[in-house]
Amino acid sequence: MEYQAGTYDVIVIGAGHSGCEAALASARMGCRTLILTLNLDNIAMMPCNPSVGGPAKAQLVREVDALGGEMGLNTDRSAIQVRMLNTAKGPAMRALRAQADKKLYQKNMRRVLENQPGLDLKQVLVEKLVVSGNTVQGIISNTGAKYMAPAVILTTGTYLKGRIIIGDLAFSGGPQGQFPSVGFAGYLRGLGLELGRFKTGTPARVDKRSIDFSKMIIQPGDQKNHKFSFLSGRVDREQVPCWLTYTNETTHRIIRDNLHRSPLFSGFIEGIGPRYCPSIEDKVVRFAHRPGHQVFIEPEGLETNEMYVQGMSTSLPEDVQLEMLRTLKGLENVQVIRPGYAIEYDYLLPTQLKHSLECKEIRGLFSAGQINGTSGYEEAAAQGIIAGINAACYVQQKEPFILGRAEAYIGVMIDDLITKGAGEPYRLLTSRAEHRLLLRQDNADLRLTEAGYKVGLVSPGRYKAFCKKKKLIEADLERVNKTYIPVTEEVQTVLDQSGSAPLSQSASLASLLRRPELRYERLFSLPGGRPDLPEELFDEVVEEVEIGVKYAGYIKKETEQVKKYTKLEERWIPEDINYALVEGLANEAKQRLEKIRPRSLGQASRISGITPADIAILMVRLEQRRRKGAVNESTAI
Ligand SMILES: Cc1cc2nc3c(=O)[nH]c(=O)nc-3n(C[C@H](O)[C@H](O)[C@H](O)COP(=O)(O)OP(=O)(O)OC[C@H]3O[C@@H](n4cnc5c(N)ncnc54)[C@H](O)[C@@H]3O)c2cc1C
Repeated sequence: MEYQAGTYDVIVIGAGHSGCEAALASARMGCRTLILTLNLDNIAMMPCNPSVGGPAKAQLVREVDALGGEMGLNTDRSAIQVRMLNTAKGPAMRALRAQADKKLYQKNMRRVLENQPGLDLKQVLVEKLVVSGNTVQGIISNTGAKYMAPAVILTTGTYLKGRIIIGDLAFSGGPQGQFPSVGFAGYLRGLGLELGRFKTGTPARVDKRSIDFSKMIIQPGDQKNHKFSFLSGRVDREQVPCWLTYTNETTHRIIRDNLHRSPLFSGFIEGIGPRYCPSIEDKVVRFAHRPGHQVFIEPEGLETNEMYVQGMSTSLPEDVQLEMLRTLKGLENVQVIRPGYAIEYDYLLPTQLKHSLECKEIRGLFSAGQINGTSGYEEAAAQGIIAGINAACYVQQKEPFILGRAEAYIGVMIDDLITKGAGEPYRLLTSRAEHRLLLRQDNADLRLTEAGYKVGLVSPGRYKAFCKKKKLIEADLERVNKTYIPVTEEVQTVLDQSGSAPLSQSASLASLLRRPELRYERLFSLPGGRPDLPEELFDEVVEEVEIGVKYAGYIKKETEQVKKYTKLEERWIPEDINYALVEGLANEAKQRLEKIRPRSLGQASRISGITPADIAILMVRLEQRRRKGAVNESTAI
């Protein structure tokens, strides 16, 4: 029997990585918010690798942080190892990666949710929505509880009609032994939303005491104090190592001999899996020439012997899993404590969403995370904060908050999803962004914190700290351009020791910094070389000034390209356009444009199957319409 259980501004269904960010964003923007989950003990659960960050994902975490989100702070509180990846490459490719203590991550995130003013947290299984006409008004649980709100955010992850597969065994289930959300999946389909079927997988977990680490290669963390959040102070943490071993020909033979028992190759699994996160059986088949694949043994936490076997994701039968693991150096006597498995789940086709992540067909209904066809904690968190901000904007009748492809990786990801859809679980890669040099992990705050403050999510305290840092960067950039280094024996010695040419006349600090062989810190020993900066901001300001000087030319060029590109991005297409009336467009183009209903010519140009000729025709028609001023709707395009 249904009963009125409460009224809110925003309801978030799911307390995974997207749900947590969505709920915190909407509550921090002043909305009375309710977050619901199937199991309060599994908030912000990491059903797969215990790591946050890495290429493209680190940029997302920093962007979520710069907007006033929680993932960066929570990772800094819960990390047990941090490493800066790609340090030999340019700043656009540098990426922080942290190993998190999974239980600590969950505990810390739960504490933040439970203590957030304006946010209620409840264990509820949502079965239906309350929809009137084409507008959402609330949710109904399996116990009949009816919670009302003008905005609802779906963040149900990998639970919709979840199906667990290990060998020839399959059963209805959510990740890590949880129950799935079956009824709700059917209900969403009944509402007319298009759902697809994806799959992902995870490796076995093994007992640390059964591993011989002396046969593996240690992977220590960096000593340097890296952190994800611009707000985190110095984080002194005990760094625990990971370990590297390899598969070998024996491993591969066992896998090949059992491919007939693999649900992936027997067709027992229907869902489409992530190309960029393949299972070991997939790798052995696709890269048959490779003698071995890297396998990283990663700790799941400080207070557990559970170890994650990165690189061995599988759904092979349990006996095969044990046999293949015991062929790896150091795992000869390994004890499996949780088998690897695959999970199939329903996802929402993201072409049904707007850039604000609101559903096109149901007003007030937003969607974020794995349900939108992505894979990854970071991708989920990034969508969650955008959905949370926009649900709050919707309730507060503010303009939607949309990030462009030239502003943020978040903008690249959401535009890709809603314009091109997701043929397989979408994972963000740096190669997906046109303007990588501008979208670095180090400058996420300079790109986004101002916008986060204006929309009402970034706190005054964070904004004040940000303005201080920005001023320090501007002042130091000016200083290195105005500080001249004299030609002295001491200076020539430093240059000589750095393999850099001697000075023939005094030169600005900036001109020395532009020399590829000279890092900023190398110039600290020169007179006037070391900036006078507060300790807590020293590294960040130095990094910004160094990149700003060394890459000035490239950054200028990329900024000019953005100007050109923005021209098409800001050629808006009227929401009421009738593509069927646009003469000259091929029927196929009309159908594709009608399906996606792009908001700009730029977005239209990224729809697969839309040609430059189609864009040219649209441009002309839009110009004609603008000149005519749309006098007669029925004939207007
Ligand atoms: C087996 C497995 C392997 C994975 N492998 C990888 C990987 O290798 N790399 C990677 O980057 N990512 C991987 N992932 C994906 C990663 O876990 C997700 O991307 C991330 O957790 C998605 O976050 P989310 O917030 O969208 O959903 P989730 O974290 O899945 O959270 C969903 C939330 O919704 C709640 N919920 C669901 N239905 C209902 C309902 N009807 N009522 C109320 N609450 C509901 C759940 O209780 C949960 O709180 C894997 C996931 C799984 C399950």
